[in-house]
Amino acid sequence: MQGMDLKMENRKKDFGRSKLMPFGEVMDTILGSVRMLGSEDVDIVDAAGRVLASDIVSDIDMPPFDKSAMDGFACRSADLDRPLRIVETVAAGAMPEKEIGEGECARIMTGAAVPSGADTVVMVEDTEETDGIVRVTRRNGRSNICLLGEDVRTGDRVLEKGSLIRPSEIAVLAATGGSNVPVAVRPVLGIAVTGDELAEPGEHVGPGMIRNSNGPQLMAQAVETGLPAEYLGIVRDEPGEVPALIESASGRIDVFIFSGGVSMGDYDFVPSGLEEAGFELLVHGAAIKPGRPLLFGRRRDSWVFGLPGNPVSVFVLFEMIVKPFCFKLMGHDYRPFEITARLDMDFTRKDAVRMAHVPVRLTLGGRARLLDYHGSAHIHAYTRADGILRIPSGVDTLKTGEEVRVIVPGPPRLANGK
Ligand code: AMP
Ligand code: MG
Repeated sequence: MQGMDLKMENRKKDFGRSKLMPFGEVMDTILGSVRMLGSEDVDIVDAAGRVLASDIVSDIDMPPFDKSAMDGFACRSADLDRPLRIVETVAAGAMPEKEIGEGECARIMTGAAVPSGADTVVMVEDTEETDGIVRVTRRNGRSNICLLGEDVRTGDRVLEKGSLIRPSEIAVLAATGGSNVPVAVRPVLGIAVTGDELAEPGEHVGPGMIRNSNGPQLMAQAVETGLPAEYLGIVRDEPGEVPALIESASGRIDVFIFSGGVSMGDYDFVPSGLEEAGFELLVHGAAIKPGRPLLFGRRRDSWVFGLPGNPVSVFVLFEMIVKPFCFKLMGHDYRPFEITARLDMDFTRKDAVRMAHVPVRLTLGGRARLLDYHGSAHIHAYTRADGILRIPSGVDTLKTGEEVRVIVPGPPRLANGK
């Protein structure tokens, strides 16, 4: 047998059930192969969705002074039963000029500094005012003062390296002086689809052909994840095409993502093409459904995922595997967002060797409703889904009402369950 054929035969054997890599091992292998891409400073307006490359320490107390939480009157709490004379008005952004003495108060606005001598602010709704004299009509026992430094102290570490920067983190960065934000460099994805049957959306679809939906889907998943991506086009099912594409794009791309051509068909040239291009294949064949032929490799300066061509495989594997990998390259431990729900009907399957995923709709009250789903080509089913039900390997039956795990795909969120 020729060298290439022998390799192919061995691969086919590896595709036997026993050689499928369990999901946990797949993740360990993939995550274990990362190397950080470095960091850069960006303006705060561009920092949303990025990962912090260093700890952030506050250069200020928050609040920076005793601050009124209400519009009202600042006075001494011992004086609430007596008429109070207004000695000045303090607006937000101004500093009080007078100290509050016995029987005195200052008219004060929300966000303004509380004058010394005062230990409470009575909200304006709880007072009556005539001729510069204020009477308190109702008490609620609250001081309505946010104390200096009660949220954050100067020198406190307010955000940790590796944090995902969401709008709330942006607010903290802004408030604590971080107008230039140190963030991890993002991997650039290169997305290529393989298959002689593919026509781009908008092109003529000849006999035996289908439209390329994986290209646009993967580009959309990259956008949703906040990662830059370049679409590298359709690769024909011929030897030499994959290495040629890699060659033409290398230097620009950190993570190549191929769809299709990774199985054992006569025209599946992706694995051999990647090896020819110098990739070491670390995963080929995973105990996950959809996604059995999953392929992952690495060479000096880049990584590659080979995803099976069926659109649901692409959707699910990007969510479960590609995303955590890309975040790990940026120093963030991302895990798909997972919840528990109760199944609303019985589920059975014949072959429980692989961990499996099916689309579900989450309903109020924490129920997961199974959807009509015909298999990994049926991406349409996912347009009605908001969750991916995970069925562990070895489990072939789930009963109505049973607690199940559901992954909620979508934009990056904090990893839960930690
Ligand atoms: P493959 O993994 O190349 O054997 O492809 C598996 C199935 O996915 C086949 O039915 C292909 O026609 C289909 N497929 C492959 N690539 C795409 C694509 N880019 N968009 C939509 N379907 C695809
Ligand atoms: Mg193909």
